[in-house]
Amino acid sequence: MNIRSSILKGVYEYVNKLMSDMDPAHSIDHIYRVVSITKKLCSEYPETNILLAEIIALLHEMNDDKLFPPNQLDNVRDILSQLSLSEENICFIIEGISLISYRKHPSLTADVPLEIKIVQDADRIDAIGAMGIARAFAFGGSKGYPLYSINPDTNSIIKHFDDKLLLIYDLLNTDAAKKYAKERHKFLEEFRTMFIKELNEIDD
Ligand code: ADP
Repeated sequence: MNIRSSILKGVYEYVNKLMSDMDPAHSIDHIYRVVSITKKLCSEYPETNILLAEIIALLHEMNDDKLFPPNQLDNVRDILSQLSLSEENICFIIEGISLISYRKHPSLTADVPLEIKIVQDADRIDAIGAMGIARAFAFGGSKGYPLYSINPDTNSIIKHFDDKLLLIYDLLNTDAAKKYAKERHKFLEEFRTMFIKELNEIDD
């Protein structure tokens, strides 16, 4: 096995172990989808380091304080240092993982490396379209949020569309992601329009 394959094997084993019992909105399947989208976006930019982008995509949930304790990135750093990665690459990966979250980093500055921008885009693409809608209803359902509410301050699932999902397209970093996300964004808009139409059909 070459060094690249053995590094990836180590990271996949680590992530599979930690993410296998997560809720459907953060499941290991979400990780694999983000990896797949990351690779597709990287293929449009030959200058990117696909190995580093793939590792950031695999580990991108490790900085989510809803899922892991605050010192989780120390644990990630320990694992990476056992995998023949240089200190420079480990710092790059840790920086990448820290910058993906929508809540903490709605947008990135221009100087952020392209690999990190691409993983952030890939994570956001998985939050929109049919897959994103399924995740929002799974997440909201697990929290007990109502589907909708007449009170605009109540945290309903359809409100999450206006608060986050419909804003994602304009916040994407790369042109390749915008191209990829176009159809998903349109589907999101259509779903919301239909949802509101059906709501308005309900008799008082
Ligand atoms: P991030 O950390 O990248 O901002 P989250 O962990 O907050 O993402 O969200 C994970 C998934 O749950 C996403 O698909 C997101 O759209 C969905 N989600 C988050 N908050 C809500 C909410 N209030 N209602 C419905 N879905 C939500």
